[in-house]
Amino acid sequence: MHSHNYISTRGSIEPITFEDAVMMGLADDGGLLLPAEIPRLSSLKSWRQLSYPELAMAIIRLFADGGLSDGELQRLTADSYRTFSHSQTAPVHKAGPLYILELFHGPTLAFKDIALQFLGNLFEHLLRKRGGELNLLGATSGDTGSAAIHGVRGKDNIRIFVMHPKGRVSLIQEKQMTTVLDENVHNLAIEGSFDDGQRILKNLFSDLDFKRRYSLGAVNSVNWARVLAQVVYYFYAAFRVQEETACDKVQFAVPTGNFGDIFAGYVAFRMGAPIEKLILACNENDILYRFFSTGVYSKGEVKATLSPAMDIQVASNFERYLYYRLAENPEAVRTLMEEFAKTGSVKIPGEDPVFVAGTMDREGTLSAIGRYYRQFGYLLDPHTAVGASVAEGHLRENVPTICLATAHPAKFPDAIRQAVGEDIAKHPLIEEILHLPSQCHDLPAEEDAVRDYVERRIQNG
Ligand SMILES: *Cc1c(COP(=O)(O)O)cnc(C)c1O
Repeated sequence: MHSHNYISTRGSIEPITFEDAVMMGLADDGGLLLPAEIPRLSSLKSWRQLSYPELAMAIIRLFADGGLSDGELQRLTADSYRTFSHSQTAPVHKAGPLYILELFHGPTLAFKDIALQFLGNLFEHLLRKRGGELNLLGATSGDTGSAAIHGVRGKDNIRIFVMHPKGRVSLIQEKQMTTVLDENVHNLAIEGSFDDGQRILKNLFSDLDFKRRYSLGAVNSVNWARVLAQVVYYFYAAFRVQEETACDKVQFAVPTGNFGDIFAGYVAFRMGAPIEKLILACNENDILYRFFSTGVYSKGEVKATLSPAMDIQVASNFERYLYYRLAENPEAVRTLMEEFAKTGSVKIPGEDPVFVAGTMDREGTLSAIGRYYRQFGYLLDPHTAVGASVAEGHLRENVPTICLATAHPAKFPDAIRQAVGEDIAKHPLIEEILHLPSQCHDLPAEEDAVRDYVERRIQNG
């Protein structure tokens, strides 16, 4: 039966079920939700032969507290990965010294599809079972918006409203969002900046009456189900590389922004995945690199780089890691997070035996793209290039290194052109959307305009 196994990193909510944790997103006490215990596996043997969706099912059921039947889970995972264009969902490709784990075969050509295709199906399933509806509201600078839209398009009892700054996202990003014509998808081009969109979103969510009346939910990276769906590929890739190399352990290099993806790797490690090290790779926005090299977690200025999905200086999933780092003591987490909110900087004692970290600048990123293309015939997108170049500084004897490829290079043609001097980053999906009709509503950067629009759409069914 349903057990109440989910807790908050800040310890001030009663334990809740998996289903409630998925619907709640952020914990009501301001913390992040986590399972009270991470299962530790004694043997991985029965998992090695599973297909990607089968492995997803085997892993997710360990965390679902009996809230989903095996039949339901099987359908959800099969449906979620059917939309991927590669038969293995997340294949591994050898390139020079690295194994590249390609996470970009989903509908928006970036790794966020792996979690958001599943989350969309899970939301739809839970709403059918529990009744009610969900109106997702988000503000995007380009990347998360399109993956969220593709995750919930056409789903029953869900609408999605995504604000983007008009004319300030790339043509490809804009088209990936606005060519989705399903009735439950609403693209709002805000006549302002990304920060205007964030401000409007924050104000609308702080209006608790509005939030409750219209069952508003957030499109964000802290939903536990997203982390959980990402745990799967750490096991899957380790198994594929072990088949090829007969090694005991592997290490992963992860291009990081919000610490969501690499935290999933940490969960896999705690479950007993054969992981020697997790190599955290950031661009010039290096808060996490600085933390892992000095123990000080302190905010910096956000800089625009070639890898925009990693241009983040406060990592929203980091608190989940802190919970383990502070010996699963929620009072200690709360104290530290409050100090961070006040001063923008905290010192965290001790060291972590699993994580190593590195940072890569613009020049190093471009040079890695050029080098991998010329020497190994493999085209890295700029995010993956940060991961690959940092990984090269941490290679180990007898421990193969798997670098997560978080986006297809065709999503970032400008960076590719700069790196290799030619326009070679192509993908048929991108060519196609550039010619499809799109739909989008322009709105002034005002809270009331967005509120009115959302209200009217919901009331009209
Ligand atoms: C979101 C994103 C990242 C960063 O992932 P986090 O979970 O925020 O660390 C890296 N690369 C690409 C292409 C992304 O879209």
